Amino acid sequence: MPRITSCLLDGKPTTTAEALELREDARRREVDAPQFRCDECTYPVEAHKDGMTGGKAHFEHMDENPQCPYMQD
Ligand SMILES: [Zn+2]
Repeated sequence: MPRITSCLLDGKPTTTAEALELREDARRREVDAPQFRCDECTYPVEAHKDGMTGGKAHFEHMDENPQCPYMQD
Protein backbone atom coordinates (compact mmCIF):
# COMPACT_ATOMS: atom_id res chain seq x y z
CA MET A 1 0.00 0.00 0.00
CA PRO A 2 1.49 3.38 -0.94
CA ARG A 3 2.43 5.69 1.86
CA ILE A 4 0.29 8.77 2.27
CA THR A 5 2.65 11.70 2.68
CA SER A 6 0.32 14.64 2.28
CA CYS A 7 -3.21 15.38 3.38
CA LEU A 8 -5.83 18.09 3.41
CA LEU A 9 -6.62 20.41 6.26
CA ASP A 10 -9.64 22.59 5.58
CA GLY A 11 -9.12 21.77 1.90
CA LYS A 12 -5.48 22.87 1.86
CA PRO A 13 -2.54 20.53 1.17
CA THR A 14 -0.61 19.79 4.36
CA THR A 15 2.63 17.84 4.81
CA THR A 16 3.28 15.26 7.51
CA ALA A 17 5.68 17.64 9.25
CA GLU A 18 3.07 20.40 9.34
CA ALA A 19 0.38 18.02 10.49
CA LEU A 20 2.50 16.63 13.33
CA GLU A 21 3.38 20.14 14.44
CA LEU A 22 -0.25 21.25 14.39
CA ARG A 23 -1.27 18.18 16.37
CA GLU A 24 1.45 18.77 18.98
CA ASP A 25 0.43 22.41 19.18
CA ALA A 26 -3.21 21.44 19.75
CA ARG A 27 -2.13 19.01 22.46
CA ARG A 28 -0.08 21.72 24.21
CA ARG A 29 -3.03 24.09 24.12
CA GLU A 30 -5.38 21.29 25.18
CA VAL A 31 -7.69 21.79 22.23
CA ASP A 32 -8.98 19.25 19.75
CA ALA A 33 -6.49 18.19 17.11
CA PRO A 34 -7.28 19.39 13.60
CA GLN A 35 -9.10 16.93 11.34
CA PHE A 36 -6.75 15.88 8.56
CA ARG A 37 -8.22 14.27 5.49
CA CYS A 38 -6.92 12.05 2.74
CA ASP A 39 -6.05 14.16 -0.30
CA GLU A 40 -7.51 11.51 -2.60
CA CYS A 41 -10.75 10.46 -0.96
CA THR A 42 -11.18 12.97 1.92
CA TYR A 43 -11.58 10.22 4.52
CA PRO A 44 -10.08 11.15 7.92
CA VAL A 45 -6.41 10.29 8.27
CA GLU A 46 -4.06 10.28 11.22
CA ALA A 47 -0.44 11.47 11.16
CA HIS A 48 2.24 9.03 12.30
CA LYS A 49 5.74 10.05 13.30
CA ASP A 50 8.96 8.55 12.00
CA GLY A 51 9.07 4.93 13.15
CA MET A 52 11.76 3.37 15.31
CA THR A 53 12.33 0.96 12.45
CA GLY A 54 13.22 3.76 10.06
CA GLY A 55 9.81 4.28 8.49
CA LYS A 56 9.17 7.83 7.40
CA ALA A 57 6.42 9.97 8.87
CA HIS A 58 3.19 9.39 7.01
CA PHE A 59 -0.57 9.45 7.26
CA GLU A 60 -2.81 6.47 7.73
CA HIS A 61 -6.50 6.16 7.09
CA MET A 62 -8.50 5.96 10.30
CA ASP A 63 -11.13 3.98 8.41
CA GLU A 64 -10.47 1.80 5.42
CA ASN A 65 -11.84 3.01 2.14
CA PRO A 66 -11.59 0.38 -0.61
CA GLN A 67 -12.29 3.11 -3.17
CA CYS A 68 -9.24 5.17 -2.19
CA PRO A 69 -6.26 5.01 -4.58
CA TYR A 70 -3.95 4.80 -1.54
CA MET A 71 -5.69 1.59 -0.50
CA GLN A 72 -4.87 -0.13 -3.79
CA ASP A 73 -1.88 -2.40 -4.05
ZN1 LIG B 1 -7.94 7.97 0.99
